[in-house]
Amino acid sequence: CDTLEKANSLIHSRPTPICLPNYVAGELRLPSSAATTFIDSFEPKTGALLCRLPCAQQDDVEEAVRHARTAFQTWSKTTRAERSGHLRRVSELLQDHRELFAVWESIDQGKTLERARIEVDRAISNFSYFSTYILHEQTAARMIDGVALTYEHRSPAGVFALISPWNMPLYLLTWKIAPCLAFGCTAVAKPSEVTSMSAYLLGVLLLKAGLPAGVVNIVLGDGPTTGAALVASPLIDGVSFTGGTPTGIAIRRATAHQIRKHLSLELGGKNPNLVFADSMMAPATRERTIRIAASAAFENQGEICLCGSRIYVERTAYEDFVREFTEYVARKYVLRETVGAVASLQHYHKIRGYLELAAEEKATFRLGAVPPLLDKNEIQGYWIAPTILTDVARESALQTNEIFGPVVTISPFEDEEEAVRLANESEYGLAAVLLTTDGARMRRVGEQIEAGLVWVNCWLVRELGTPFGGMKNSGTGREGGDYSRDVFTVVRTLHLPA
Ligand code: NAD
Repeated sequence: CDTLEKANSLIHSRPTPICLPNYVAGELRLPSSAATTFIDSFEPKTGALLCRLPCAQQDDVEEAVRHARTAFQTWSKTTRAERSGHLRRVSELLQDHRELFAVWESIDQGKTLERARIEVDRAISNFSYFSTYILHEQTAARMIDGVALTYEHRSPAGVFALISPWNMPLYLLTWKIAPCLAFGCTAVAKPSEVTSMSAYLLGVLLLKAGLPAGVVNIVLGDGPTTGAALVASPLIDGVSFTGGTPTGIAIRRATAHQIRKHLSLELGGKNPNLVFADSMMAPATRERTIRIAASAAFENQGEICLCGSRIYVERTAYEDFVREFTEYVARKYVLRETVGAVASLQHYHKIRGYLELAAEEKATFRLGAVPPLLDKNEIQGYWIAPTILTDVARESALQTNEIFGPVVTISPFEDEEEAVRLANESEYGLAAVLLTTDGARMRRVGEQIEAGLVWVNCWLVRELGTPFGGMKNSGTGREGGDYSRDVFTVVRTLHLPA
């Protein structure tokens, strides 16, 4: 298919499921390796087979990397204005096909159409932001005592492996592709095997956008085969990865002997959400507190790495908060309406396992229940209702492990000191939310939280130039604006006599 309209009608021609091709050297094609196996991908909302994808083997991955290397020779020498023009064109084309991408993303991932639209809009912004960033980029220069002029000279770092997860497929993949191209690098991208549809559609769009062949290549496949071959390739200069912490560790291990490889790892989280009693006093702030805590917990079925799945509430407001929060969630987060299906059967089983544990540990289900075991022959989607748990022990796996679904725990705290201690009591350090009306506390507590992103009385507010990334086991490196430039460029400092 060379147009999105044709791709759309081809995918629609089910029940024969489409077999998604790779996008390599400017062509959409199936891998040539005789050893290629195929992966079935299912629709989370129905459990029906949606498409199949090839699992690219090492030689197919290497071929894509070679094309990216060849393209790097010319792409790295293009002017900023040229690259900016290409990115702008991609963002405009995405805008033109916004609804098509949103519909397939929603079908493929399980999220609501409304949520998918938000994410396509953010993917559009990824391209438009970096298309202008590179036109206004500044370089630091200093005169040293009239003796020498020094300045930073940056050049594109090379060919990148861009690997993304299944929770926000198009948005997270483009969050990597856009800066990679903007800074003059070329890419071999690999989406999650659970949600490859939007990456396929993006390949069709890039073809239409007239991007030079080989600048972006998209290979489909699983982590242990395709992802691992990509990361290990000696022709890859860097890896920008978003996904789980265990995979981040595997990537670090696999590249430990290749110091020159740039690594950016955006990993998992178990984010705290601190509710202070002052935020529950006045009706307006009370409403805001409940609303923000609920969206941070249940937006996209809790399948956002930044979701606040551990809520801690100051003891004096605890019972009021639990009651009102539960009523609000029951009203606003309705399965099949405002809450989608979870991404895969495997993920359904994982979340279900945690809810069984909650029942075994005698947690109180304020909302939700252990979802049914699905009979393989009668699956009608992977639906898990929003679940609110209280009376969960601090050391329970429910409080320490990333569940990554529509499940939240609520626990009380006595004072500010305990709130900070509880928030930081985690191997992760990705994000946190503070809900308080006390201005001094916002800074006092905010500056002690061990998290790369702290939101006060808001959640998910982002400007693409701000640093994005986690502390502790939530990752290394930051992305966004200048921080993405650090990922995708190498810097040398030049000293010239004055
Ligand atoms: P995952 O780590 O299982 O997979 C992510 C990607 O890595 C997939 O494309 C997968 O095929 C690939 N992969 C797996 N093993 C690999 C290997 N050995 N080498 C190379 N690639 C490999 O994660 P997931 O289950 O797809 O996504 C959920 C996780 O992603 C959660 O932990 C979530 O918090 C995290 N996440 C983090 C952020 C962030 O910005 N920090 C954003 C979204 C999701």
